[in-house]
Amino acid sequence: MSTIKLKILTDCDYCEGKAYLPSREDEDYKGNKYMLYKPCPQCFGTGLAEKSISLSELARLLDNTDVCEPDYQALSMAEPICQYSDSLSSSGLR
Ligand SMILES: [Zn+2]
Repeated sequence: MSTIKLKILTDCDYCEGKAYLPSREDEDYKGNKYMLYKPCPQCFGTGLAEKSISLSELARLLDNTDVCEPDYQALSMAEPICQYSDSLSSSGLR
């Protein structure tokens, strides 16, 4: 039986998705210390890693995902927003 595998992009394990890692401390011309960062050697500064997962793993990932549905009822009751209201009142149209 063949196994279906899916390629997904996930956070890089090495930098935990941060993409850039602290390299060394340096000083500016005033003597203030600051941290120099360099791209993660594992993901080359993308913060992402490819991973192959099986369909059952995908189902588990989807189960753990919170789906964000907008609150349509609250949206329909909210005052419409006019982004030009300021300019309308300042030009004497309102
Ligand atoms: Zn990385």
